[in-house]
Amino acid sequence: MANSVEKALYIVATPIGNLNDITLRALDVLKNVDIIACEDTRTTSILLNKYSINTKLISYHKFSEKQKSEVILNYLFNDKSIALVSDAGTPLICDPGSTLVDSAIKNGFKIIPIPGPSAIITFLSAVNKEGEDFKFIGFLPRVKNQIIETFLKNKNENLIFYQSPNRLLETLEILKDNFPSKKIAVARELTKKFEEIKIDCALNLFNFYTKNPPKGEIVVMLYKGNILEESNNDSMDNEELNQKIKKLKDSGFKDKEISLILSKLYDVSKNAVYDILLEKKKSD
Ligand code: SAM
Repeated sequence: MANSVEKALYIVATPIGNLNDITLRALDVLKNVDIIACEDTRTTSILLNKYSINTKLISYHKFSEKQKSEVILNYLFNDKSIALVSDAGTPLICDPGSTLVDSAIKNGFKIIPIPGPSAIITFLSAVNKEGEDFKFIGFLPRVKNQIIETFLKNKNENLIFYQSPNRLLETLEILKDNFPSKKIAVARELTKKFEEIKIDCALNLFNFYTKNPPKGEIVVMLYKGNILEESNNDSMDNEELNQKIKKLKDSGFKDKEISLILSKLYDVSKNAVYDILLEKKKSD
């Protein structure tokens, strides 16, 4: 067993982009354990080379979790200290490791978490939201109906999910068609050169990402409530209604969407909204 670390399974968080985002404790553990189990030895080598760490690497990825867990458990039985890392961020957060941690606990080995970056926590530190509560569901399901069902089921949550760039537009399209009044935060490439955080309604985000096809890694949050929540009275007079219609029109919503949003949120009929929209068209 190496010197300055005890015999244990260390779960070590590593950067989600910027290689400087590594803790002193993580470096100490990675340097001094006997073995580092990682998803992809090439990816982890880039980090280790930057910090001149020569610890032996073995691979541990989602396709070999069960079999590799047994190998790693054997190392633990043989008094070795092990660090588990993933390609990026915190292991077990949408990354492999559960099987290993489970068997290590069952066999009485000590688990020592070494905290550090994770895309979800980094994201949460950069977007505003009321209250502390949120629900993280990992990646969204792939089938459209299941996506809509997930959004419906969680409409009263601050719902956070990871997203691949080639699915972002499709998701925003579903949102603009089915949840036009949702406020949404999209963060791309956190801690990296092209980091970008946008907070808007689905329509505006859809238009933006249609013009600027998204690349890289993405986290999304659907806010509980909606973009009109700050003035969510049950009823309103005509002047107020006019102002809200104008605000939604200026944001790019279509007439049908505007009447749907306002009728769902306030005590007004779709027809009343249509009438105002019609009047507006005549006077424009
Ligand atoms: N274990 C990682 C963590 O702690 O965040 C997550 C691994 S999961 C396989 C990869 C997903 O996390 C990406 O598809 C993306 O949705 C999100 N992600 C990872 N790095 C990110 C970054 N720098 N910016 C935005 N999202 C990121």
